[in-house]
Amino acid sequence: MKTPLLLRHLFDYAMTYFPNQEIVSRTHHGMHRYTYEEYGARTRQLSSALAKLGVEVGDRVGTFLWNDQYHMEAYFGVPAMGAVLHTINIRLPADQIAYIINHAGDRVLIVDRTLWPLLAPVREQLTSVEAILLTGPPQSTDPVSNAYDYETLIAEGDPHFAYPDLDENAPMGMCYTSATTGNPKGVVYSHRGIYLHSLTLGLANTLALSMQDATLPVVPMFHVNAWGLPFAALWFGCKIVLPGPAPQPKTLLDLMAEEGVTLAAGVPTVWMGLAKELEAQPTPLKLRAAVCGGSAAPEALIRTYEERFHIPFIHAYGMTETSPIASVARLKSHHQSLPASEQLSVKSSQGLLVPGLTIRLERDGQDLPWDGEQAGEMCIQGPWIADEYYRDERSAATFIDGWLHTGDVAAIDKEGYIHIVDRTKDVIKSGGEWISSVDLENALMAHPAVFEAAVVGVPHPKWDERPLAFVVLKDGATVDKSELVTLLATRFAKWQLPDDILFIDEVPKTSVGKFLKRALREQYRNYLA
Ligand code: AMP
Repeated sequence: MKTPLLLRHLFDYAMTYFPNQEIVSRTHHGMHRYTYEEYGARTRQLSSALAKLGVEVGDRVGTFLWNDQYHMEAYFGVPAMGAVLHTINIRLPADQIAYIINHAGDRVLIVDRTLWPLLAPVREQLTSVEAILLTGPPQSTDPVSNAYDYETLIAEGDPHFAYPDLDENAPMGMCYTSATTGNPKGVVYSHRGIYLHSLTLGLANTLALSMQDATLPVVPMFHVNAWGLPFAALWFGCKIVLPGPAPQPKTLLDLMAEEGVTLAAGVPTVWMGLAKELEAQPTPLKLRAAVCGGSAAPEALIRTYEERFHIPFIHAYGMTETSPIASVARLKSHHQSLPASEQLSVKSSQGLLVPGLTIRLERDGQDLPWDGEQAGEMCIQGPWIADEYYRDERSAATFIDGWLHTGDVAAIDKEGYIHIVDRTKDVIKSGGEWISSVDLENALMAHPAVFEAAVVGVPHPKWDERPLAFVVLKDGATVDKSELVTLLATRFAKWQLPDDILFIDEVPKTSVGKFLKRALREQYRNYLA
């Protein structure tokens, strides 16, 4: 049958089979809990309220929320009615937030009231937004025009609102990802892509997500759909535990223990923080899977979880453009008899490609063999891989002849395990969020005393990578470090500022005069360790 693959079907299935399953969310004022049945009624009420506001099939609805029950309601309430769920990264600098809201053309925004102060400064620049739905109790900072109280609005919505039939290739969501330089680039997800991606999260070769799980996405719901977990978790009838505003390691540990979490997902920084907490406060957990991705998981971290805490650790790789899960590191049967150290090297690889996708390694236009030695750029194809950036000329550099060029350089071994060795994208990933080294360099070089500046990412024990800036001054010029930091602070969020600025005589260069950043990265790799 040519049944279209729609998000609505995931929702309907979950409502039919798991009406009594729970969604638990940490909020600003304690825990919120309700059943799928109550969730379902409110989700339809939200869709109905959006329809009354004039939202139609294909319209974009932006969310500016933590991982909470409101976000969960938008996750299905927006796409099931045919609108497009645009999850906005609350950590971006305000001008980039304004850019992506305008570029996506969001007609409605759903905003956590406590986050409104981040949007308020750019309110006047938002050209497409007609209505703002505010979640949580009223605040003195609330906007006055075109703002609605979320609860009041959905109270008048229809809990039986009927969802339309749609084309499975219709867009259901979008997420912007940082670029090497310039504004973020938009990735659009289709119903079909997310439907298939959700299915794969249930495979035993990947996460084996099932109705016996209680799942906790620590990865933000504004970051590639929290790796697709909310969609799959609801479909499969998992208990869903949402960590709410700015969760700290102690909060996460308590949540895991109290709610019997079996599978949680986050970047290495999250798992490092949690390991410290677990060390200090040994706590019995039911965790059967510590899912880690977004940056390479260090072997030592995997060992800590597996050998010290006896918690199975699952390393996964993906990107915004791949919906995101593209590969997962699980053992093949013949690995089971290997010594722990050899198993560890399999577990710390980026793993095997998820069924349904195709991968090749490319260097200088040639395909490379999978010999575990030769490294080239990973190029990926498949039903949940994006084929362009939304209305963006930069698409041509990344999507070539039907392949996504990931910008990640890897070797693939004879067994098919991916080992990422480098990144061609000149960006730094700190605690799961991107920082553009090129933008920082350009900002530094705009200072009249600066001749050259190079910014590189160096390993950091907590944040995985942090930016370090190198500055060459013009002859006879002087400038204080603090003056340069002040200059950068006008354009970058605080967490994007370099950890240090070092004055050097010359930036090392390649034979053709390009910055040889690899040399600086190598020389200073222990600077922040
Ligand atoms: P994003 O689009 O923000 O999710 O970032 C995707 C990028 O993060 C990838 O292209 C990689 O550079 C990096 N990344 C994600 N997962 C891993 C991993 N498991 N190991 C190494 N790098 C990773």
